Amino acid sequence: MTATAPTGTTPSSTAPTGSTPSSTDLIGRDRGLLWHPYAALDGPAPYAVLAASGSRLELADDDGRRHDVVDAMSSWWCMIHGYRHPALDAAVHEQADRFSHVMFGGLTHEPAVRLAEDLVAFAPDPLRHVFLADSGSVSVEVALKLAVQFQAAAGRPERRRFVALRGGYHGDTTGAMSVCDPVDGMHSLFPGLVADQLFLPRPPAAPTADGRLAAPDAAAVATWVAEAERIVAEHAGEIAAVVVEPVLQGAGGMHVYPPECLMALRRIADEHGVLLVADEIATGFGRTGARFACDHAGVVPDVMCVGKALTGGYLTMAAVLVSDRVAEAITRSPQRALLHGPTFMANPLACAVASASVALLTLELERRVGTLGSRLAAALAPAADLDAVRDVRVLGGVGVVALDGPVDVGAVTRAALERGVWVRPFRNLVYTMPPYVCSDEDIDTIGAAVTGAVEEVHGR
Ligand SMILES: *Cc1c(COP(=O)(O)O)cnc(C)c1O
Repeated sequence: MTATAPTGTTPSSTAPTGSTPSSTDLIGRDRGLLWHPYAALDGPAPYAVLAASGSRLELADDDGRRHDVVDAMSSWWCMIHGYRHPALDAAVHEQADRFSHVMFGGLTHEPAVRLAEDLVAFAPDPLRHVFLADSGSVSVEVALKLAVQFQAAAGRPERRRFVALRGGYHGDTTGAMSVCDPVDGMHSLFPGLVADQLFLPRPPAAPTADGRLAAPDAAAVATWVAEAERIVAEHAGEIAAVVVEPVLQGAGGMHVYPPECLMALRRIADEHGVLLVADEIATGFGRTGARFACDHAGVVPDVMCVGKALTGGYLTMAAVLVSDRVAEAITRSPQRALLHGPTFMANPLACAVASASVALLTLELERRVGTLGSRLAAALAPAADLDAVRDVRVLGGVGVVALDGPVDVGAVTRAALERGVWVRPFRNLVYTMPPYVCSDEDIDTIGAAVTGAVEEVHGR
């Protein structure tokens, strides 16, 4: 295996000519046939992916126009090492030549054992036990069931509700949905299907400077902590766990909050015999500038969910990392097992590529993750001068440009493509989490394209 990262080539603009009839045909066949995430069957036409390499995507639109662009989204947080990374490609090929899948009931294999060892070495002590799940949402389901089993094993079976933060996002399966923001998650559409949980107010915003956390408003933190304490104390007898995205809430609004709030939750959870579940599915593996977002607070959760970038974006897989104390309690319970077991648990291809990704990441943490924040902050800074922009925040490899009103998604996406960048805005947010293989020039291209696209569509 080679560890050479493919670097992005120089940014190029949209090719004005050159029709790709096959992409027009492809998009036509897709429409009305396939659902895309949270989109209508007859919604806006998607772009066709013709090729992907390093930090770059080659796209074509329904007119057959090609766009050679930097992927500013890392395919939704996943492709941290870029597309077609030689080491990751090799890991998949080598494992495919051995065996691609085997059941995990009663059997084990080298890729699974190695990955679990790698994850335990990468994660903070005492998270020393690993459950491999098929996706982020499923890992959250497992964490919720585990917390209920833990409380039952401790003789508190009435503790089976969860406390979550308003503005949070934890996945799209019904258990995970129940701890998502109740309004954004449209809980009212699914009465009876989505359980009724308890919610703390969204923590106050933490300021950022130069891609790092800056000192928060201490009074706002104290007010929030007092409210969190009150709600948990009032309901402690029915709560199994507090479930949070540490420091950065992602799909619920790209909200950065003070690590002090997470530290308080750790203390409050301990005081009331409640588990702390950290959903690091988006934030893990260096994305916020630290290994895990919990590290900003010096907090170790009882249970940690990781996913998205786990396999370097190659295959779907997530993991639930569990502390010694919690794992031992499950093992001593009457059931003894964690009651979950998906068909594709510990898929060998996914495990093999995940181990290769974690190995690369250990290098990237030194090489790139530490410096990405300040470069991204500088690249996005001009956006803050636009009238339509409320606020620009950058934490590590996450950059957010928040507008005063909703983004014209189609127009901003197109305007950014014309400037050589793929972004996928939502609500009032144009945001980026670039692959770690992006060159400094790629980061500058992203900053200029986001700023230029917002200016073109939403005015100065
Ligand atoms: C994406 C995400 C999930 C869900 O992961 P899937 O793999 O899409 O099921 C859960 N929690 C957070 C914080 C996420 O960002």
